[in-house]
Amino acid sequence: MIIATKISEVRAQVAAWKKEGLTVGLVPTMGYLHEGHTSLVDRAGKDCDRVVASVFVNPTQFAPGEDLETYPRDFDHDCALLEAHGCHLVFHPEVEEMYSQDAATFVEILSEMPKQLCGKTRPTHFRGVCTVVSKLFNIVTPDKAFFGQKDAQQLAVIRRMAEDLSYPVEIVGCPIVREKDGLAKSSRNTYLSETERKAALVLSKAVFLGEELAGQGERDVKQILGAMRKLIEEEPLARIDYVSAVDGVTMMPVENMQGQILFAVAVYIGKTRLIDNFIWKG
Ligand code: AMP
Repeated sequence: MIIATKISEVRAQVAAWKKEGLTVGLVPTMGYLHEGHTSLVDRAGKDCDRVVASVFVNPTQFAPGEDLETYPRDFDHDCALLEAHGCHLVFHPEVEEMYSQDAATFVEILSEMPKQLCGKTRPTHFRGVCTVVSKLFNIVTPDKAFFGQKDAQQLAVIRRMAEDLSYPVEIVGCPIVREKDGLAKSSRNTYLSETERKAALVLSKAVFLGEELAGQGERDVKQILGAMRKLIEEEPLARIDYVSAVDGVTMMPVENMQGQILFAVAVYIGKTRLIDNFIWKG
């Protein structure tokens, strides 16, 4: 596996692969990798001849006061996992390589989409995500890029951006990978104390409950959200950010069970904000 820290190295390697007629898949990550991330690498390896993963804690998607400085990092472990899953190149740039000091250009979706759900508490988050993913698309020029359904709004935002900016990249969404007890895997789970880790199960329990109710034929969105909310509120360590149902493409709130609906939750467990979701298709 090649470890590249410079944009020019990535460009040269990808150019060589493309000259051989090989296809390239990109898996963008912030590192501290787990089976959620490696499931994307596995899928990329099935779909593409060469797999590039990026490990970059992107400062522009963090607001002041968020966890940029404390975000967990373990690059050696990340490399071992990536190599074991057949990744061909890991791009691990310094912040200065990605953003020059006078960088002044952002990629921002101007509809209501990035202001919904996580955008309410993190108003500049998706601008940072779109900017860095756009840069990664320009650097790696992948045929396909792989994102987790765990970050459902991010996936919807990236799909919008890729279409609006005519990126010749197929966006592939991959299923949520969970711990045995149901908790969605996340690099941020490492922040949880033992008691918080137990309390965090309310997210997946609420998601499974909502999914079960919808599966049993409940067609009242408010009833489903109410049941999910109630379950979370019973956990003293949990503080709800949102429990919402939105259109699966536009991310706008819905009241009726029609089309593709994203049921999404964001909950603080202590100081740690966790997310989870399920999709219902009519
Ligand atoms: P992150 O490193 O948190 O920015 O995540 C990088 C990519 O991995 C994103 O596309 C995430 O949606 C995806 N991802 C993170 N956790 C999971 C998970 N539990 N299951 C599936 N994909 C995940």
